[in-house]
Amino acid sequence: MTARLEFRRELTTSPTPAERRREILANPGFGKFFTDHMITARWTPERGWHDAVLRPYGPFSLDPATAVFHYAQEIFEGLKAYRHSDGSIWTFRPDVNAARFQRSARRMALPELPVEDFVGALDLLIQTDQDWVPSGGEKSLYLRPFMFASEPFLGVRPAQDVTFAVIASPAASYFAAGVKPVSIWLSEEYTRAAVGGTGAAKCGGNYAASLLAQQEAIENGCDQVVFLDAVERRWVEELGGMNIYFVYDNGLIVTPELTGTILEGVTRAAILELAADLGYKVDERRVDINEWRQGVATGRITEVFACGTAAVVTPVGQLKWRGGQLTIGKGECGPVTARLRQQLLDIQYGRADDTHGWLHRVC
Ligand SMILES: *Cc1c(COP(=O)(O)O)cnc(C)c1O
Repeated sequence: MTARLEFRRELTTSPTPAERRREILANPGFGKFFTDHMITARWTPERGWHDAVLRPYGPFSLDPATAVFHYAQEIFEGLKAYRHSDGSIWTFRPDVNAARFQRSARRMALPELPVEDFVGALDLLIQTDQDWVPSGGEKSLYLRPFMFASEPFLGVRPAQDVTFAVIASPAASYFAAGVKPVSIWLSEEYTRAAVGGTGAAKCGGNYAASLLAQQEAIENGCDQVVFLDAVERRWVEELGGMNIYFVYDNGLIVTPELTGTILEGVTRAAILELAADLGYKVDERRVDINEWRQGVATGRITEVFACGTAAVVTPVGQLKWRGGQLTIGKGECGPVTARLRQQLLDIQYGRADDTHGWLHRVC
């Protein structure tokens, strides 16, 4: 049993002026502005996790030979802090993100960070920069924990010097102008993950490999890309950074089962439980791309939505592929999608009872 990490505190001597911060929080966008502080910690085989510091936000100085630049030994997480109407600040199931961060670390031969240190690092950063947590609308403070091989060494083996860091960025509501369905491009050339590969790990490499497919989606007038399995090119897996759900006309809700090539979303898991709470029958199973096409054509599939921390629940209005396209329902946000989205947001923002005990109070 290792002792919990103790964080040294070095506060900034030049915090963002309150006036400027208010300006940023009024229109934060996504991932553009960062709070005054960050967390870093180091790991070596001899010392384990050490040198944990809360310090002013700022650049890293890294040797050009640093392993992450060459071999992409890197993982990350994404979660949000929500301000409730009484001013208190909460995160949503940070222990689940912490456990996934450990699984990602294992897959990428990185050291595991104890769950309590992961949650402790987030709490400390949020408490320190609590004035950066916006209120109102669906605004939040987006938290980005990450870990990378920081050893300057070109040999190919797991790094013996690893850095953990957390940064925080105020985020606007994804749908500032009302929930608008997205259009999705079916990637038939590229796949995201292979059996035995890194699809279930949240690593930067998966994202690097998905960018070309995402670019193809944009070129074809779509917002996002959906990937099929790499073996049969037949089973629907997920989007570049969101899981997917199908709503059937008989009250059934289906999401592709986790077969090791799909990222296990915290939002995906919450939706499974919320849908059951609301009386829907839920199922995790494989979904054939032709079941999607035919289901929409026959009216059996009435709604499709994507889900993830950043955009919460996003209705899918259209699917396009080389040589065809279809519109789901009326191409608008369906009632089941809207209901699940609202229920999840109400819990996260403290407007509905947290019957599952998902919220973690930060301050
Ligand atoms: C992060 C991520 C998701 C969504 O996970 P959440 O925990 O719900 O945010 C889905 N797919 C991929 C590939 C991801 O990286």
